[in-house]
Amino acid sequence: MSDSAVQELPGRPIGVAVLGMGNVGTEVVRILIENADDIRARVGAPVELRGVAVRDTARERPGIHPALLTGDAEALVARDDVDLVVELVGGIEPPRTLIRAALEAGKSVITANKALMAAYSGELSEAAARNRVDLYFEAAVAGAIPVIRPLTQSLAGDSVNRVAGIVNGTTNYILSEMAETGADYADVLAEAGRLGYAEADPTADVEGYDAAAKAAILASIAFHSRVTADDVYREGITAITADDLEAAKKFDCTVKLLAICERLNDGGAERISARVYPALIPLEHPLAAVNGAFNAVVVESENAGRLMFYGQGAGGAPTAAAVMGDLVMAARNRVYSGRGPLESTYASLPIAPIDDVPTRYYVSMRVADRPGVLAQISGAFAERGVSISAMRQEGAGEDARLIIVTHRASDRAQSETVAGLEEMDSVIEVSSVLRLEGTDD
Ligand code: NAP
Repeated sequence: MSDSAVQELPGRPIGVAVLGMGNVGTEVVRILIENADDIRARVGAPVELRGVAVRDTARERPGIHPALLTGDAEALVARDDVDLVVELVGGIEPPRTLIRAALEAGKSVITANKALMAAYSGELSEAAARNRVDLYFEAAVAGAIPVIRPLTQSLAGDSVNRVAGIVNGTTNYILSEMAETGADYADVLAEAGRLGYAEADPTADVEGYDAAAKAAILASIAFHSRVTADDVYREGITAITADDLEAAKKFDCTVKLLAICERLNDGGAERISARVYPALIPLEHPLAAVNGAFNAVVVESENAGRLMFYGQGAGGAPTAAAVMGDLVMAARNRVYSGRGPLESTYASLPIAPIDDVPTRYYVSMRVADRPGVLAQISGAFAERGVSISAMRQEGAGEDARLIIVTHRASDRAQSETVAGLEEMDSVIEVSSVLRLEGTDD
């Protein structure tokens, strides 16, 4: 970059406070320092790191001058020379209080905190709007993958009908390995822990809480409504077996943990469905090819049609790239006295319970091998208005297994049918029930 370009810059320096210097914070600090010249040119003013708040100030942290470290995040946020606050601590408190304080003091905020945004985006967006500052959170969903900005800006003139994706790398790694190697869930989870793909306590990932938080954020911005993690129907992957993946293959499908946000239109009254569960998807579906720790999100909108976003959903540097994109935007807005769009909730669509959502089921059961059983079982489906799309019988005698795939019907009708099957004498065991997604009928 030439010196003349630097001299033409209009703005005074923009001061940045980074809260947290862990996996993501370390990379954000590195990029801020290493790319300072390019960032200055893109922002239109120098962007200067004022300080980094951590818990343990005594720990040696390469790449940063010790004088920039502080254990007092509150005081750092309150400094007069701080214009932007980047929150990379994680969890609800103290981030919620620190972010509120920053916004109330007229500072823009960038955060990667999905748990916080899934629970408190309403109050934080209101505080940002009241104080006419930015609140950006691209990194909170699917790490490096740009999906928040496409939804809030690129598609701002279109109407989004569906957002569905693989937004949790740990569970996608586990399911991909199970599909590829035939290994069982527990063995693959242990291996994922050894390789650093799963945390010591994997509950948030394997039980679907992490994906549900992301689904809440996606549904809120896609449908201009307030959706929190508690509104998201959630099932994890702990009950998935090697047999499920083997059986899925026979139907030219695989199993993925999906986060699905859908606009439902039942007779004119629009509602939102936000849900997370492991589902069969056809091998030809674009999400079926997303393997390992990668993430992908498919957005379907009225006029743009289907868009797909794919990439690294976690990791220090990839996540920091998304944070830096937000940081440059927020800093530019400061320099040119503008603001980006905030979360809007003007549509206020109600949330539909899972019972009302049209789904398809895949049911695998062990059945008695005697005449009349098939008719009895298909009767149980018909009774509740669920029609069968495919039926396959495998094995004979004690091991006879019946697999049924249904057409779309309300999830209530589907789950009541399964409950009915479990009561039938001719059904020895319902061994697996999964939903089927990514098909038209
Ligand atoms: P991390 O490695 O656990 O780092 C957290 C940092 O916060 C540490 O530096 C810690 O200080 C500091 N901290 C904790 N409590 C604090 C307090 N009370 N005051 C000041 N600092 C405090 O976390 P991370 O993986 O970087 O994740 C940060 C955020 O990004 C989270 O919201 C996470 O959900 C989100 N995110 C992460 C990823 C990823 O791949 N890691 C991807 C997407 C989004 P010490 O260093 O002294 O312990």
